[in-house]
Amino acid sequence: MTANNEIGVLQPVAELGQLARRHGVLLHTDATQAIGKVPFNAADLDVDLVSLSAHKFYGPKGVGALCLRRRRPKIAIDPVINGGGHERGLRSGTLNVPAIVGFGRAAEEADRTHALRDRLWAGLSDGLDGLRINGSMERRLPHNLNVSVSGLDGETLLVGLDDVAVSSGSACTSENPEPSHVLSALGLSDQLSRASIRFGLGRWNTPDEVDYVVEKVRRLVVRLRDMSPV
Ligand SMILES: *Cc1c(COP(=O)(O)O)cnc(C)c1O
Repeated sequence: MTANNEIGVLQPVAELGQLARRHGVLLHTDATQAIGKVPFNAADLDVDLVSLSAHKFYGPKGVGALCLRRRRPKIAIDPVINGGGHERGLRSGTLNVPAIVGFGRAAEEADRTHALRDRLWAGLSDGLDGLRINGSMERRLPHNLNVSVSGLDGETLLVGLDDVAVSSGSACTSENPEPSHVLSALGLSDQLSRASIRFGLGRWNTPDEVDYVVEKVRRLVVRLRDMSPV
């Protein structure tokens, strides 16, 4: 992944591409989280395949792109959907034109949200101790904040944030009750990993909403810490 889907950390794709190239290894990067959030130009990177999905930057669901290097080396892939041979035999079926147009339009309008994210972190860390940012704050998507709160009983945190749309880890693995493998890999205990929240800010969020969330989290954590055996 160019950017991790839980903690928003940006991977050194340029360096990884050079390394892979030196050893004759093809490199695919899933850039879904990064596109529209940070500058990304596949032509500047030694990557051979790039995938992305439109709905992560306000485009429609159900449309994305797979970019393949055309020379040195030319990448050949097998189709997953066979039939009439559309898109040079790679994906048969009538093109979803409204989705494709929406994808293009969303790509033109992609913007950045790091000021609100920084306001959120400033507010939270000012009012509470025992908070920890998961992953680098410098090499990170501008709209992501993933925070662990010590001294809490795991998911009670999410339950208390009833009118705030947050997530405990990756939406893709929300059916899985195990602690996040990403946070475990960072060395977090299961308990701290369960007491983590991922905030994702968007272009329609306002400073007032951020301040509301800061206050709500602060009160909740104080209350839960009073009750918690840990
Ligand atoms: C959301 C996401 C996907 C899945 O894309 P869909 O279009 O929702 O299937 C894949 N990779 C990453 C990194 C994502 O964040």
